[in-house]
Amino acid sequence: MKTILGKIHLKWCKNCNLPVLDTKCAICDSETVEVKVTPPGDARPAFKGDLDLINKTINLQFGIEENLFKNKLVLVNKAPGIEYFQEIIVDGIIFGILNFNEKKHEWKIIPTIEGARRLIVAGCKKKLLVVKEDVPKFILNKGASVLRPGVDYASEDITKDDDVIILIEKPDSSQNFNEMDVLGVGRARMDYEQIINSEKGMVAKVRKSELPKNSEILHEVGEFDEAIEKMICANKNAMEKVERNSIGFMRNTVVKIGKPASVAYSGGKDSLAVLLLALEAFKNTEDPIEFDVLFNDTGIEFNETLENIEKIANTYDLEILKTKSGDFWEKLEEYGPPGRDNRWCSEVCKVSPLGKLIDEKYEKGCLSFVGLRKYESINRSKKPRIWNSPTIKKQMLSAPILNWTAMHVWIYILKHKAPYNVLYEQCFDRVGCFMCPAMEIGEIELVKLSYPELWEKWESFLKSHAKIHEKSEDWVKGGWRWTNKTRTNNQKPDEPINENWLG
Ligand SMILES: [Zn+2]
Repeated sequence: MKTILGKIHLKWCKNCNLPVLDTKCAICDSETVEVKVTPPGDARPAFKGDLDLINKTINLQFGIEENLFKNKLVLVNKAPGIEYFQEIIVDGIIFGILNFNEKKHEWKIIPTIEGARRLIVAGCKKKLLVVKEDVPKFILNKGASVLRPGVDYASEDITKDDDVIILIEKPDSSQNFNEMDVLGVGRARMDYEQIINSEKGMVAKVRKSELPKNSEILHEVGEFDEAIEKMICANKNAMEKVERNSIGFMRNTVVKIGKPASVAYSGGKDSLAVLLLALEAFKNTEDPIEFDVLFNDTGIEFNETLENIEKIANTYDLEILKTKSGDFWEKLEEYGPPGRDNRWCSEVCKVSPLGKLIDEKYEKGCLSFVGLRKYESINRSKKPRIWNSPTIKKQMLSAPILNWTAMHVWIYILKHKAPYNVLYEQCFDRVGCFMCPAMEIGEIELVKLSYPELWEKWESFLKSHAKIHEKSEDWVKGGWRWTNKTRTNNQKPDEPINENWLG
Protein backbone atom coordinates (compact mmCIF):
# COMPACT_ATOMS: atom_id res chain seq x y z
CA MET A 1 0.00 0.00 0.00
CA LYS A 2 1.29 3.38 -0.96
CA THR A 3 1.78 5.80 1.88
CA ILE A 4 0.00 9.10 1.38
CA LEU A 5 2.12 11.07 3.80
CA GLY A 6 5.00 13.31 3.01
CA LYS A 7 7.12 15.22 5.49
CA ILE A 8 4.96 16.83 8.12
CA HIS A 9 6.19 20.01 9.68
CA LEU A 10 4.83 21.40 12.87
CA LYS A 11 2.51 24.29 12.13
CA TRP A 12 0.59 26.79 14.18
CA CYS A 13 -2.77 28.53 13.88
CA LYS A 14 -1.95 32.04 15.08
CA ASN A 15 -5.65 32.85 15.17
CA CYS A 16 -6.59 30.06 17.60
CA ASN A 17 -3.06 29.95 19.10
CA LEU A 18 -2.85 26.20 18.70
CA PRO A 19 -0.50 23.69 17.04
CA VAL A 20 -2.02 22.26 13.86
CA LEU A 21 -0.51 19.41 11.83
CA ASP A 22 -1.99 20.67 8.62
CA THR A 23 -1.92 23.68 6.29
CA LYS A 24 -5.32 24.81 7.58
CA CYS A 25 -6.88 24.96 11.02
CA ALA A 26 -10.03 22.84 11.40
CA ILE A 27 -11.59 25.35 13.82
CA CYS A 28 -11.22 28.67 11.99
CA ASP A 29 -10.04 27.58 8.54
CA SER A 30 -7.04 29.96 8.70
CA GLU A 31 -3.79 29.14 6.99
CA THR A 32 -1.24 27.84 9.49
CA VAL A 33 2.39 28.92 9.73
CA GLU A 34 5.41 26.70 10.14
CA VAL A 35 7.19 26.44 13.49
CA LYS A 36 10.90 26.12 12.90
CA VAL A 37 11.82 23.36 15.32
CA THR A 38 15.10 21.47 15.24
CA PRO A 39 15.01 18.23 13.19
CA PRO A 40 13.87 15.55 13.38
CA GLY A 41 11.20 17.77 14.93
CA ASP A 42 9.25 15.47 17.20
CA ALA A 43 7.57 17.99 19.50
CA ARG A 44 5.02 16.95 22.14
CA PRO A 45 2.67 18.76 24.53
CA ALA A 46 4.35 19.94 27.73
CA PHE A 47 2.75 18.40 30.82
CA LYS A 48 2.61 19.87 34.30
CA GLY A 49 5.97 18.33 35.24
CA ASP A 50 7.65 19.92 32.24
CA LEU A 51 6.18 23.34 32.96
CA ASP A 52 7.06 23.15 36.65
CA LEU A 53 10.70 22.45 35.79
CA ILE A 54 10.77 25.17 33.13
CA ASN A 55 9.16 27.78 35.41
CA LYS A 56 11.38 26.86 38.35
CA THR A 57 14.46 27.25 36.15
CA ILE A 58 13.27 30.62 34.79
CA ASN A 59 12.65 31.78 38.32
CA LEU A 60 16.10 30.77 39.57
CA GLN A 61 17.90 32.17 36.57
CA PHE A 62 16.00 35.34 35.72
CA GLY A 63 14.08 36.01 38.93
CA ILE A 64 10.70 35.83 37.18
CA GLU A 65 7.89 34.46 39.34
CA GLU A 66 5.12 35.02 36.84
CA ASN A 67 4.09 31.95 34.85
CA LEU A 68 4.91 33.01 31.28
CA PHE A 69 3.00 30.03 29.89
CA LYS A 70 -0.23 30.40 31.80
CA ASN A 71 -3.28 29.14 29.90
CA LYS A 72 -1.23 28.46 26.80
CA LEU A 73 -0.69 25.24 24.88
CA VAL A 74 3.06 24.72 25.30
CA LEU A 75 5.08 22.16 23.36
CA VAL A 76 8.55 20.81 23.98
CA ASN A 77 10.87 19.39 21.35
CA LYS A 78 13.90 17.40 22.34
CA ALA A 79 16.86 17.99 20.05
CA PRO A 80 19.30 15.13 19.53
CA GLY A 81 22.81 15.52 20.87
CA ILE A 82 25.23 14.69 23.65
CA GLU A 83 23.57 16.99 26.16
CA TYR A 84 19.94 17.46 27.13
CA PHE A 85 18.46 20.16 24.89
CA GLN A 86 14.73 20.72 24.72
CA GLU A 87 13.08 23.53 22.78
CA ILE A 88 10.14 25.24 24.47
CA ILE A 89 7.41 26.32 22.04
CA VAL A 90 4.66 28.80 22.94
CA ASP A 91 2.50 31.04 20.71
CA GLY A 92 4.01 29.26 17.69
CA ILE A 93 7.51 30.53 18.43
CA ILE A 94 10.51 29.06 20.20
CA PHE A 95 10.84 30.71 23.60
CA GLY A 96 14.15 29.06 24.38
CA ILE A 97 15.76 25.81 25.25
CA LEU A 98 15.78 23.85 28.49
CA ASN A 99 19.28 22.53 28.90
CA PHE A 100 20.99 20.48 31.57
CA ASN A 101 24.41 22.06 31.73
CA GLU A 102 26.75 19.19 32.46
CA LYS A 103 29.71 21.40 33.35
CA LYS A 104 27.82 23.37 35.99
CA HIS A 105 25.54 20.42 36.73
CA GLU A 106 22.38 22.50 36.69
CA TRP A 107 19.26 23.15 34.63
CA LYS A 108 19.21 26.33 32.65
CA ILE A 109 17.15 28.15 30.07
CA ILE A 110 18.83 29.47 26.94
CA PRO A 111 16.34 32.09 25.68
CA THR A 112 15.85 33.06 22.06
CA ILE A 113 15.56 36.80 21.37
CA GLU A 114 11.78 36.46 21.47
CA GLY A 115 12.17 34.61 24.78
CA ALA A 116 14.36 37.45 26.02
CA ARG A 117 11.73 40.04 25.02
CA ARG A 118 9.11 38.13 27.02
CA LEU A 119 11.41 37.96 30.04
CA ILE A 120 11.91 41.72 29.85
CA VAL A 121 8.14 42.31 29.50
CA ALA A 122 7.73 40.21 32.67
CA GLY A 123 10.12 42.56 34.49
CA CYS A 124 13.38 40.61 34.34
CA LYS A 125 16.21 42.40 36.17
CA LYS A 126 18.79 39.61 36.14
CA LYS A 127 21.41 38.54 33.57
CA LEU A 128 21.20 41.91 31.86
CA LEU A 129 23.98 43.41 29.81
CA VAL A 130 23.35 46.93 28.53
CA VAL A 131 25.42 48.26 25.64
CA LYS A 132 26.10 51.88 24.75
CA GLU A 133 24.05 53.55 22.06
CA ASP A 134 26.72 53.35 19.34
CA VAL A 135 27.36 49.60 19.80
CA PRO A 136 24.27 47.95 18.17
CA LYS A 137 25.40 48.71 14.62
CA PHE A 138 28.61 46.69 15.11
CA ILE A 139 26.69 43.78 16.60
CA LEU A 140 23.91 43.84 14.01
CA ASN A 141 26.04 44.44 10.92
CA LYS A 142 29.32 42.78 11.76
CA GLY A 143 28.33 40.11 14.27
CA ALA A 144 30.68 41.71 16.78
CA SER A 145 30.93 40.54 20.38
CA VAL A 146 30.20 42.82 23.32
CA LEU A 147 33.52 44.37 24.31
CA ARG A 148 34.20 46.02 27.63
CA PRO A 149 34.34 49.63 26.37
CA GLY A 150 30.86 49.20 24.87
CA VAL A 151 29.22 48.13 28.13
CA ASP A 152 27.04 50.65 29.91
CA TYR A 153 25.66 48.41 32.64
CA ALA A 154 25.88 44.77 33.74
CA SER A 155 23.68 43.16 36.39
CA GLU A 156 25.57 41.97 39.46
CA ASP A 157 24.43 38.37 39.19
CA ILE A 158 26.32 37.64 35.95
CA THR A 159 28.87 34.85 36.11
CA LYS A 160 31.01 33.55 33.27
CA ASP A 161 29.12 31.31 30.80
CA ASP A 162 25.73 32.69 31.86
CA ASP A 163 23.19 33.35 29.16
CA VAL A 164 22.61 37.09 29.12
CA ILE A 165 20.04 39.41 27.60
CA ILE A 166 21.67 42.22 25.64
CA LEU A 167 19.85 45.55 25.82
CA ILE A 168 20.43 48.97 24.33
CA GLU A 169 21.15 51.84 26.69
CA LYS A 170 18.20 54.16 27.41
CA PRO A 171 18.70 57.81 26.46
CA ASP A 172 17.64 58.77 30.00
CA SER A 173 20.03 56.10 31.42
CA SER A 174 17.15 54.56 33.39
CA GLN A 175 16.86 50.82 33.75
CA ASN A 176 13.18 50.57 32.97
CA PHE A 177 13.59 48.39 29.95
CA ASN A 178 10.87 47.20 27.65
CA GLU A 179 10.78 44.72 24.76
CA MET A 180 11.91 47.38 22.26
CA ASP A 181 15.24 47.68 24.09
CA VAL A 182 16.24 44.07 23.44
CA LEU A 183 19.08 43.74 20.96
CA GLY A 184 20.02 40.12 21.37
CA VAL A 185 21.09 37.20 23.52
CA GLY A 186 24.57 36.01 24.28
CA ARG A 187 26.88 34.21 26.63
CA ALA A 188 28.98 35.99 29.23
CA ARG A 189 32.72 35.58 29.01
CA MET A 190 33.39 37.38 32.30
CA ASP A 191 31.96 37.46 35.82
CA TYR A 192 30.42 40.70 37.05
CA GLU A 193 33.50 41.52 39.14
CA GLN A 194 35.73 41.04 36.13
CA ILE A 195 33.50 43.23 33.98
CA ILE A 196 33.58 46.18 36.34
CA ASN A 197 37.30 45.84 36.96
CA SER A 198 38.34 45.55 33.31
CA GLU A 199 38.91 48.24 30.75
CA LYS A 200 39.04 45.92 27.76
CA GLY A 201 38.30 42.35 26.68
CA MET A 202 35.25 40.37 25.52
CA VAL A 203 32.37 40.62 27.96
CA ALA A 204 29.94 38.45 26.03
CA LYS A 205 29.72 36.53 22.81
CA VAL A 206 26.52 37.39 20.96
CA ARG A 207 24.51 34.32 19.97
CA LYS A 208 21.78 36.14 18.06
CA SER A 209 20.91 39.77 17.50
CA GLU A 210 18.21 41.60 15.57
CA LEU A 211 16.65 45.04 15.21
CA PRO A 212 14.40 45.78 18.17
CA LYS A 213 10.78 44.77 17.65
CA ASN A 214 7.63 44.04 19.56
CA SER A 215 7.02 40.73 21.21
CA GLU A 216 4.47 38.45 19.50
CA ILE A 217 2.42 37.46 22.52
CA LEU A 218 -0.84 35.72 21.52
CA HIS A 219 -4.08 35.27 23.46
CA GLU A 220 -4.64 32.63 26.15
CA VAL A 221 -6.40 29.37 25.18
CA GLY A 222 -7.39 28.00 28.57
CA GLU A 223 -6.19 25.63 31.25
CA PHE A 224 -4.54 22.37 30.23
CA ASP A 225 -7.68 20.26 29.64
CA GLU A 226 -9.48 23.05 27.78
CA ALA A 227 -6.44 23.83 25.64
CA ILE A 228 -6.05 20.12 24.79
CA GLU A 229 -9.73 19.90 23.77
CA LYS A 230 -9.24 22.86 21.44
CA MET A 231 -6.06 21.36 20.00
CA ILE A 232 -7.96 18.15 19.23
CA CYS A 233 -10.65 20.15 17.38
CA ALA A 234 -8.09 22.19 15.42
CA ASN A 235 -6.48 18.95 14.24
CA LYS A 236 -9.66 17.11 13.30
CA ASN A 237 -8.89 16.96 9.58
CA ALA A 238 -5.19 16.27 10.00
CA MET A 239 -5.90 13.37 12.34
CA GLU A 240 -8.69 11.82 10.25
CA LYS A 241 -6.27 11.50 7.35
CA VAL A 242 -3.52 9.71 9.26
CA GLU A 243 -5.92 7.52 11.27
CA ARG A 244 -7.74 6.29 8.19
CA ASN A 245 -4.43 5.56 6.52
CA SER A 246 -3.03 3.60 9.48
CA ILE A 247 -6.20 1.59 10.09
CA GLY A 248 -6.48 0.65 6.42
CA PHE A 249 -2.82 -0.25 6.33
CA MET A 250 -3.14 -2.53 9.37
CA ARG A 251 -6.10 -4.48 7.96
CA ASN A 252 -4.43 -4.84 4.58
CA THR A 253 -1.16 -5.99 6.15
CA VAL A 254 -2.82 -8.74 8.19
CA VAL A 255 -4.56 -10.05 5.07
CA LYS A 256 -1.42 -9.79 2.96
CA ILE A 257 0.96 -11.44 5.45
CA GLY A 258 -1.50 -14.11 6.60
CA LYS A 259 0.13 -14.70 9.98
CA PRO A 260 -1.41 -14.28 13.45
CA ALA A 261 -1.43 -10.60 14.36
CA SER A 262 -0.20 -9.02 17.56
CA VAL A 263 0.55 -5.61 19.00
CA ALA A 264 3.85 -5.20 20.83
CA TYR A 265 2.82 -2.97 23.72
CA SER A 266 5.62 -1.47 25.81
CA GLY A 267 3.76 0.89 28.12
CA GLY A 268 4.94 3.82 26.00
CA LYS A 269 2.88 6.35 24.07
CA ASP A 270 3.76 5.11 20.57
CA SER A 271 2.73 1.52 21.15
CA LEU A 272 -0.37 2.79 22.96
CA ALA A 273 -1.38 4.61 19.77
CA VAL A 274 -0.80 1.39 17.82
CA LEU A 275 -2.91 -0.56 20.31
CA LEU A 276 -5.77 1.96 20.02
CA LEU A 277 -5.54 1.74 16.23
CA ALA A 278 -5.64 -2.06 16.45
CA LEU A 279 -8.82 -1.86 18.53
CA GLU A 280 -10.39 0.28 15.82
CA ALA A 281 -9.03 -1.78 12.93
CA PHE A 282 -9.62 -5.28 14.29
CA LYS A 283 -12.04 -5.23 17.23
CA ASN A 284 -14.60 -2.45 16.99
CA THR A 285 -15.53 -3.24 13.44
CA GLU A 286 -18.13 -5.26 11.53
CA ASP A 287 -15.55 -7.77 10.44
CA PRO A 288 -13.32 -8.40 13.47
CA ILE A 289 -9.83 -9.92 13.25
CA GLU A 290 -8.25 -11.57 16.28
CA PHE A 291 -5.02 -10.18 17.64
CA ASP A 292 -2.81 -10.64 20.69
CA VAL A 293 -1.11 -8.04 22.82
CA LEU A 294 2.48 -8.77 23.86
CA PHE A 295 4.38 -7.06 26.64
CA ASN A 296 8.06 -7.66 27.16
CA ASP A 297 8.99 -7.07 30.79
CA THR A 298 12.71 -6.34 30.78
CA GLY A 299 12.92 -6.68 34.55
CA ILE A 300 14.14 -3.09 34.86
CA GLU A 301 10.84 -1.33 34.16
CA PHE A 302 9.43 1.51 36.24
CA ASN A 303 6.53 0.48 38.49
CA GLU A 304 4.39 3.03 36.64
CA THR A 305 4.91 1.07 33.43
CA LEU A 306 3.84 -2.21 35.04
CA GLU A 307 0.79 -0.44 36.50
CA ASN A 308 -0.03 0.97 33.09
CA ILE A 309 0.03 -2.54 31.57
CA GLU A 310 -2.63 -3.61 34.11
CA LYS A 311 -4.68 -0.50 33.53
CA ILE A 312 -4.69 -1.00 29.76
CA ALA A 313 -5.67 -4.66 30.16
CA ASN A 314 -8.62 -3.66 32.39
CA THR A 315 -9.74 -0.64 30.38
CA TYR A 316 -9.88 -2.46 27.06
CA ASP A 317 -10.67 -5.92 28.42
CA LEU A 318 -7.51 -7.46 26.98
CA GLU A 319 -5.43 -10.41 28.00
CA ILE A 320 -1.83 -9.30 27.68
CA LEU A 321 0.81 -11.97 27.02
CA LYS A 322 3.88 -11.16 29.08
CA THR A 323 7.47 -12.28 28.97
CA LYS A 324 9.58 -11.96 32.05
CA SER A 325 13.26 -11.38 31.99
CA GLY A 326 14.83 -11.69 35.40
CA ASP A 327 18.35 -11.93 34.14
CA PHE A 328 19.51 -8.33 34.01
CA TRP A 329 21.06 -8.01 37.47
CA GLU A 330 22.59 -11.45 37.26
CA LYS A 331 24.22 -10.85 33.87
CA LEU A 332 25.33 -7.42 35.01
CA GLU A 333 27.86 -8.97 37.39
CA GLU A 334 29.23 -11.01 34.52
CA TYR A 335 29.21 -8.47 31.65
CA GLY A 336 29.54 -5.13 33.43
CA PRO A 337 27.22 -2.21 32.65
CA PRO A 338 25.78 -2.10 29.13
CA GLY A 339 27.16 0.70 26.94
CA ARG A 340 26.00 2.59 23.90
CA ASP A 341 28.57 0.55 22.03
CA ASN A 342 27.81 -2.66 23.91
CA ARG A 343 24.11 -3.26 24.29
CA TRP A 344 24.09 -6.77 25.64
CA CYS A 345 20.99 -5.83 27.63
CA SER A 346 18.93 -5.80 24.45
CA GLU A 347 19.69 -9.47 23.79
CA VAL A 348 19.25 -10.57 27.41
CA CYS A 349 16.19 -8.50 28.33
CA LYS A 350 14.32 -8.23 25.03
CA VAL A 351 15.32 -10.47 22.15
CA SER A 352 15.83 -13.71 24.03
CA PRO A 353 12.64 -13.73 26.20
CA LEU A 354 10.43 -12.44 23.39
CA GLY A 355 11.91 -14.94 20.93
CA LYS A 356 11.09 -17.73 23.38
CA LEU A 357 7.49 -16.59 23.78
CA ILE A 358 6.99 -16.30 20.03
CA ASP A 359 8.53 -19.74 19.45
CA GLU A 360 6.17 -21.33 21.94
CA LYS A 361 3.02 -19.49 20.93
CA TYR A 362 3.24 -19.18 17.15
CA GLU A 363 4.39 -22.29 15.38
CA LYS A 364 4.39 -20.65 11.96
CA GLY A 365 5.51 -17.22 13.09
CA CYS A 366 3.62 -14.00 13.73
CA LEU A 367 3.13 -10.44 12.59
CA SER A 368 3.71 -7.79 15.25
CA PHE A 369 2.63 -4.17 14.98
CA VAL A 370 5.12 -1.87 16.67
CA GLY A 371 5.16 1.82 17.56
CA LEU A 372 8.26 2.70 15.58
CA ARG A 373 8.18 6.18 14.03
CA LYS A 374 10.60 7.78 11.61
CA TYR A 375 10.54 11.14 13.42
CA GLU A 376 12.01 9.54 16.52
CA SER A 377 15.46 9.78 15.06
CA ILE A 378 17.16 10.59 11.81
CA ASN A 379 18.42 6.98 11.67
CA ARG A 380 14.89 5.69 11.46
CA SER A 381 13.80 7.92 8.60
CA LYS A 382 14.36 5.36 5.86
CA LYS A 383 12.61 2.34 7.38
CA PRO A 384 10.07 0.35 5.37
CA ARG A 385 6.65 -0.18 6.90
CA ILE A 386 6.87 -4.02 6.95
CA TRP A 387 10.07 -6.00 7.51
CA ASN A 388 11.45 -9.20 8.99
CA SER A 389 12.70 -8.87 12.54
CA PRO A 390 16.49 -8.88 12.32
CA THR A 391 16.72 -10.70 15.65
CA ILE A 392 13.66 -12.93 16.00
CA LYS A 393 13.37 -15.29 13.05
CA LYS A 394 9.66 -16.06 13.36
CA GLN A 395 8.56 -12.45 13.80
CA MET A 396 7.57 -10.03 11.08
CA LEU A 397 7.30 -6.41 12.10
CA SER A 398 5.11 -3.64 10.85
CA ALA A 399 4.99 0.05 11.74
CA PRO A 400 1.52 1.53 11.15
CA ILE A 401 2.48 4.92 12.62
CA LEU A 402 5.85 5.18 10.88
CA ASN A 403 4.90 8.59 9.47
CA TRP A 404 3.29 10.00 12.60
CA THR A 405 4.98 12.65 14.69
CA ALA A 406 4.79 12.60 18.48
CA MET A 407 2.09 15.28 18.15
CA HIS A 408 -0.11 12.93 16.10
CA VAL A 409 0.41 10.26 18.74
CA TRP A 410 -0.50 12.55 21.63
CA ILE A 411 -3.51 14.08 19.93
CA TYR A 412 -4.78 10.59 19.14
CA ILE A 413 -4.23 9.31 22.69
CA LEU A 414 -5.73 12.42 24.31
CA LYS A 415 -8.72 12.34 21.98
CA HIS A 416 -9.47 8.77 23.07
CA LYS A 417 -8.82 9.68 26.72
CA ALA A 418 -6.65 6.57 26.83
CA PRO A 419 -4.82 5.80 30.09
CA TYR A 420 -1.27 6.68 29.14
CA ASN A 421 1.76 6.01 31.29
CA VAL A 422 1.88 8.64 34.07
CA LEU A 423 5.66 8.90 33.70
CA TYR A 424 5.00 11.23 30.77
CA GLU A 425 3.62 13.78 33.22
CA GLN A 426 6.98 13.85 35.01
CA CYS A 427 9.19 15.23 32.23
CA PHE A 428 9.92 11.80 30.75
CA ASP A 429 10.22 11.62 26.98
CA ARG A 430 10.67 7.88 27.00
CA VAL A 431 9.43 5.29 29.44
CA GLY A 432 11.60 2.26 28.69
CA CYS A 433 14.03 0.70 31.17
CA PHE A 434 14.68 3.00 34.12
CA MET A 435 18.30 3.22 33.16
CA CYS A 436 19.73 3.00 29.68
CA PRO A 437 23.17 3.86 28.27
CA ALA A 438 21.39 6.03 25.69
CA MET A 439 20.35 8.48 28.43
CA GLU A 440 21.82 11.96 28.66
CA ILE A 441 22.92 13.31 32.03
CA GLY A 442 19.81 15.52 32.08
CA GLU A 443 17.57 12.45 31.74
CA ILE A 444 19.50 10.73 34.53
CA GLU A 445 18.89 13.81 36.69
CA LEU A 446 15.15 13.52 36.00
CA VAL A 447 15.12 9.88 37.10
CA LYS A 448 17.13 10.77 40.22
CA LEU A 449 14.68 13.55 41.01
CA SER A 450 11.53 11.41 40.80
CA TYR A 451 12.94 7.98 41.70
CA PRO A 452 15.97 8.48 43.97
CA GLU A 453 15.84 4.96 45.43
CA LEU A 454 15.79 3.37 41.98
CA TRP A 455 18.80 5.33 40.84
CA GLU A 456 20.61 4.62 44.12
CA LYS A 457 20.40 0.92 43.39
CA TRP A 458 22.03 1.47 40.01
CA GLU A 459 24.61 3.90 41.35
CA SER A 460 25.64 1.57 44.14
CA PHE A 461 26.31 -1.09 41.50
CA LEU A 462 28.36 1.43 39.49
CA LYS A 463 30.35 2.43 42.56
CA SER A 464 31.25 -1.13 43.50
CA HIS A 465 32.09 -1.93 39.88
CA ALA A 466 34.27 1.18 39.73
CA LYS A 467 36.11 0.13 42.84
CA ILE A 468 36.91 -3.33 41.52
CA HIS A 469 37.84 -2.14 38.03
CA GLU A 470 39.56 1.10 39.08
CA LYS A 471 37.17 3.41 37.27
CA SER A 472 37.02 7.16 37.92
CA GLU A 473 34.33 9.28 39.55
CA ASP A 474 33.45 10.60 36.08
CA TRP A 475 32.83 7.06 34.97
CA VAL A 476 30.27 6.60 37.78
CA LYS A 477 28.60 9.91 36.87
CA GLY A 478 28.09 9.01 33.23
CA GLY A 479 31.21 7.56 31.61
CA TRP A 480 29.79 4.03 32.11
CA ARG A 481 27.48 4.70 29.13
CA TRP A 482 30.35 3.86 26.79
CA THR A 483 32.15 0.56 27.27
CA ASN A 484 35.08 0.99 24.91
CA LYS A 485 35.37 4.60 23.88
CA THR A 486 37.02 7.03 26.21
CA ARG A 487 34.58 9.81 26.86
CA THR A 488 34.08 12.24 29.66
CA ASN A 489 30.94 13.90 30.90
CA ASN A 490 32.33 17.29 30.13
CA GLN A 491 32.90 16.76 26.47
CA LYS A 492 32.25 19.98 24.56
CA PRO A 493 29.76 21.24 27.12
CA ASP A 494 29.85 24.75 25.78
CA GLU A 495 29.52 23.92 22.14
CA PRO A 496 26.20 24.85 20.57
CA ILE A 497 24.44 21.77 19.36
CA ASN A 498 22.20 23.39 16.87
CA GLU A 499 23.33 26.47 15.05
CA ASN A 500 19.81 26.91 13.81
CA TRP A 501 19.22 28.98 16.86
CA LEU A 502 22.06 28.60 19.26
CA GLY A 503 24.11 30.51 16.74
ZN1 LIG B 1 -7.62 28.31 14.00
